[in-house]
Amino acid sequence: MTNQQDHFKNIISHAKEYGYIFQSSEIYDGLSAVYDYGQNGTILKNNIRDYWWKSMVQLNENIVGLDSAILMHPKIWKASGHVDAFNDPLIDNKDSKKRYRADVLVEDYVAKIESKIQKEVKKANSRYGENFNKDEFIKTNPRVKQYYERKNIILKRLNTSLENDLSDVKSLIEELEIACPESGSRNWTDVKQFNLMFGTKLGASEDTATELYLRPETAQGIFVNFLNVQKSNRMKLPFGIAQTGKAFRNEIVARQFIFRMREFEQMEMQFFVKPGEQKEWYEKWKKTRLSWHLSLGMGQDNYRFHAHEKVAHYADAATDIQFRFPFGFKELEGIHSRTNFDLSQHEEFSGKKIKYFDPEKNESFIPYVIETSIGLDRMFLAVFSWALCTEKLEDGSSRKVLKLPSVLSPIKASILPLLKKDGLPKISKEIYNDLKWDYNISYDEKDAVGRRYRRQDALGTPFCITVDHQTKEDNTVTIRDRDSMNQERILINEINGYLDKKINSKNWLQKN
Ligand code: ATP
Repeated sequence: MTNQQDHFKNIISHAKEYGYIFQSSEIYDGLSAVYDYGQNGTILKNNIRDYWWKSMVQLNENIVGLDSAILMHPKIWKASGHVDAFNDPLIDNKDSKKRYRADVLVEDYVAKIESKIQKEVKKANSRYGENFNKDEFIKTNPRVKQYYERKNIILKRLNTSLENDLSDVKSLIEELEIACPESGSRNWTDVKQFNLMFGTKLGASEDTATELYLRPETAQGIFVNFLNVQKSNRMKLPFGIAQTGKAFRNEIVARQFIFRMREFEQMEMQFFVKPGEQKEWYEKWKKTRLSWHLSLGMGQDNYRFHAHEKVAHYADAATDIQFRFPFGFKELEGIHSRTNFDLSQHEEFSGKKIKYFDPEKNESFIPYVIETSIGLDRMFLAVFSWALCTEKLEDGSSRKVLKLPSVLSPIKASILPLLKKDGLPKISKEIYNDLKWDYNISYDEKDAVGRRYRRQDALGTPFCITVDHQTKEDNTVTIRDRDSMNQERILINEINGYLDKKINSKNWLQKN
């Protein structure tokens, strides 16, 4: 097993052991790609959501929130294109009976070529140092040039065949000699389209029931409420509507833990602008969203933009913010310039006018839209996988530590009496009862204090506050920092201010 696979397994088992994430319906052997959040996971998820909401809604005068229903009129999905075009091409391996996304099989193949290119680039970079020009190197080095051209030819053919001829996707898989990772065989079925929406029924009796879909994205709830929000809040362009909520997709290949789930949560914002201004706002939102990510301090090198060469039918530009997950760089967030496609479609399908009236120019038009869309669960995985590490200590032992950004940690501090006697638990409880009004904190008096520190490290608690005999003399406690393991003594009445300075989202969000 590779280090990468080991690390990923470790993340999944740590998430379970410390009450972050459980497999859904585990006692019935689980439900594939559906997960439950445990006692700590729920709070981490809430904290990520709050951090997003604060930066998108609370701090922007011209962005407001919405909470639209999961069940919506079925025509909405016809208008948005999801009924006809929200498909993935699937292919089965006849021997293993495993199902794959045909495009992903080819993309994985291309990723291997890409990693060969990156390897050569890295080698050359360290050889030539400052004088190294990456683009020039790719163009002139015969081997790398060959890889590069091959990669582009494959991707071009994949895109064309996905649009025009699914049988050619199969031919491509055969020509590239891609084998099923499970059976090792190249015994593939034909490629078929598969709609990702979950269907359900509204109504009591079979014959009168209406066929509905569980929403595959939260965005459409925003579009169909565009005028409700605009009029009731007298919003002027440019302005945004944000919402967080569940979305459902019957994903064909749902592996990689909470990276790709069948039931997940999105945090989306649709920003409405005047036609012609979309390019400028698209660039602004790309920058703003990257800054939000960087504010969490998880390393600039772990993010990159990936512009789409081929954009969806509704967009005129699209880019992903990719994050370095344990299995490589993958999409974390999408930023799309969606034109006026959605609002126009809803105008046509509903027969109702969905236009913005510009009082200055005395004219009505359909606004253009920039969308920022991030999966809450995927963000959770980014934070959790980045944070989990094993550190070697000076005395030769090691500790497992979850270095969650403290603004997101579910438990901000743990109050630990050094001993379970001499009045120390009483003072600790008093501190606990005072701080719990402002922070989610815990109290722990079991085991030796060193073991309690380790447990809090693994849980991701950024601060441990220890009450000892000196506390009784001078009202001070030690406060231990999870990451540096440094301890300092502060007065009890300074704890609240100390934590606030370290944890307050204002300080974090202003970092970038
Ligand atoms: P992918 O290419 O990974 O399937 P997508 O391009 O279909 O994603 P969007 O429709 O743009 O994704 O959705 C916006 C965001 O929602 C994604 O960037 C991702 O963070 C999240 N997301 C999408 N599908 C899933 C899923 N099945 N499970 C968890 N998060 C998801």
